[in-house]
Amino acid sequence: MTEQSNLRALIKARKVNKVFPNGCHALKDVSLDVQPGEVVVIIGPSGSGKSTFLRTINQLESITSGRILLDQVDLTDKRTNINKVREEVGMVFQAFNLFPHKTALGNVMLAPMQVLKQSKSEARRTAVDLLERVGLADRMGNFPSRLSGGQQQRVAIARSLAMKPKVLLFDEPTSALDPEMVGEVLDVMKELARAGMTMVVVTHEMGFAREVADRVVFMEDGELVLEESPERFFHSDHPRLQRFLGQVL
Ligand code: ADP
Ligand code: MG
Repeated sequence: MTEQSNLRALIKARKVNKVFPNGCHALKDVSLDVQPGEVVVIIGPSGSGKSTFLRTINQLESITSGRILLDQVDLTDKRTNINKVREEVGMVFQAFNLFPHKTALGNVMLAPMQVLKQSKSEARRTAVDLLERVGLADRMGNFPSRLSGGQQQRVAIARSLAMKPKVLLFDEPTSALDPEMVGEVLDVMKELARAGMTMVVVTHEMGFAREVADRVVFMEDGELVLEESPERFFHSDHPRLQRFLGQVL
């Protein structure tokens, strides 16, 4: 990677280590750059540190050593306003965590009003646009309990987008869904990728990785083992990756 493209990186992680208080060394010298508009897919076995790594990027988790820069801002710098950083990094989880007493529209409007201090009409306009974008134009007034899992996850994506994040992190966004609903969520993610959204996606959906990722990363035992274009990645004969793919495919 050239010096020039490094300067443009939206996420720059350098030798990140995370040791939990119980001694678990969850991230070992993990370095990764994500350029604006890139889609990076992270795969790896359970317990390899994928979620921990995503959580360090939006500072839900502090790091033990190393550095993380988000759009040139050093997250480890004591002077950095972490709340501001969190606003700029959207996160979509396996569990959608919608507010049950709010409609789809209300869920998407909430943070822009409370955090960004948008007016109700402005927040509503944005929310309507976003819910249309994720294919839920006819479900805006529904409460989460009246939405399928796939629909709820699409509301959760719209809710993240409403904060106009610089980057969206996805932690196994389809793992809790019934199989017939996986496609509709992946389709929304593909559309976001096409529109130029910068995304880091932890998933076991290898088809998505092949089709949408600019780079695929393999993590195991807290280490970033391999980082390649999808073409090279899925033809790699790296023994640790081979062993993992042999188990999941
Ligand atoms: P993955 O998302 O790849 O399944 P995680 O990032 O969740 O992996 O976990 C990586 C390692 O860190 C695991 O060994 C896990 O048990 C450990 N871990 C995660 N969260 C904590 C925590 N809060 N305290 C102690 N250990 C943790
Ligand atoms: Mg995880």
